[in-house]
Amino acid sequence: MLSNGRHYLAIPGPSVMPDRVLSAMHRAAPNIYTGQLIEMTQGLIPDLKAVARTAHHAAIYIGNGHAAWEAALANILSRGDLVLVLATGRFCLGWGTMAQGLGVQVEVMDFGWQDDIDLARVAERLAADPDGRIRAVLAVHVDTSTSVRNDIAGLRAVLDGAGHPALLAVDCIASLGCDAFEMDAWGVDVMVTASQKGLMTPPGLGFVFFNDKADAARGRADCVTGYWDWRPRVAPEGYYQYFDGTAPTHHLYGLRAALDMIGEEGIEAVWARHATLARAIWAAFDAWGQEGALRLNIADPAKRSHAVTAAVMASPDGDRLRAWCEGVAGVTLGIGLGRDPADAYFRIGHMGHVNAHMVLGVLAVMEAGMTALAIPHGRGALDAAADVVAGVR
Ligand SMILES: *Cc1c(COP(=O)(O)O)cnc(C)c1O
Repeated sequence: MLSNGRHYLAIPGPSVMPDRVLSAMHRAAPNIYTGQLIEMTQGLIPDLKAVARTAHHAAIYIGNGHAAWEAALANILSRGDLVLVLATGRFCLGWGTMAQGLGVQVEVMDFGWQDDIDLARVAERLAADPDGRIRAVLAVHVDTSTSVRNDIAGLRAVLDGAGHPALLAVDCIASLGCDAFEMDAWGVDVMVTASQKGLMTPPGLGFVFFNDKADAARGRADCVTGYWDWRPRVAPEGYYQYFDGTAPTHHLYGLRAALDMIGEEGIEAVWARHATLARAIWAAFDAWGQEGALRLNIADPAKRSHAVTAAVMASPDGDRLRAWCEGVAGVTLGIGLGRDPADAYFRIGHMGHVNAHMVLGVLAVMEAGMTALAIPHGRGALDAAADVVAGVR
């Protein structure tokens, strides 16, 4: 069996968990009242803020990305408030649906499944809201379903240009610790992320970062409930208030190890690693695309994420290729989330604990799979990807 050996889950979350993270979690239950755990939790906050590039506040929740979505919304909104959802795939739509569930009025601007946010259209919409009825603008930095990367600094410039007071809330669940992101320099008011992607820790922790403007909105938000309230979590009087109950002890140890790894590499070096590996993947797709139907979902390289890559081939070859790679070669590719026909689409996750040999391995396996399945494709993809890794392309 060629698939025996270490399996590689190359889907966009949960990402590959480093052995160092897993070992840090393998321990007896710690004391949650005094001692090391309490100090360790306090030490996580500045390191989380360093990854988010913010000097403001960070709250940790026990929950996944969906929990962080709801936490962020509940702290800034009241029933009947209007939010503008900038949809570039499945994830911002999901965040908007959650806002609707809280009793918030949601207006969706949809930019389709192959493009980024059209800033000119957003500017027009904001100009048509002179009374500032829109309380918040929701955007995803990287939409994991399409692998588009939105221009968040540009979005802030549009809000500023319109003199609009809406909060800018951004989902960085797929991008944090992969694609460059600057919360404060880009003027983001609220940012949400989760543990299981660029942060290389098992699913189960959600994070909300927010500035003082967002906290002022918290002062009048009537959607907020006790558990989701971010205030006790950022200024706890006792250890229990960090989490409104028992701490996620083992996740915290895992996260500590992951943040150490990011700190040792340096966040800019982490971004650069993801950028080079993404370019290697794109170079392979450019060569494959010379023949046959295989295409990247996002045509413009400047709009592509460095954490995840969505691609399409002739139906049902996406499904056939995924099944071959998993069953014969030990690599699991991601499904085409929310796409039609679903069996034409697939995604590669290259977020977090990923290096050149893993990415080159995925590409070589895909090449073998397309050959075995007689899926037409251009030649030279592996040479092209290797040239990127070698630094000559
Ligand atoms: C993964 C992801 C989510 C959802 O996170 P869960 O932990 O599955 O709830 C939301 N937004 C983006 C951009 C994601 O990549």
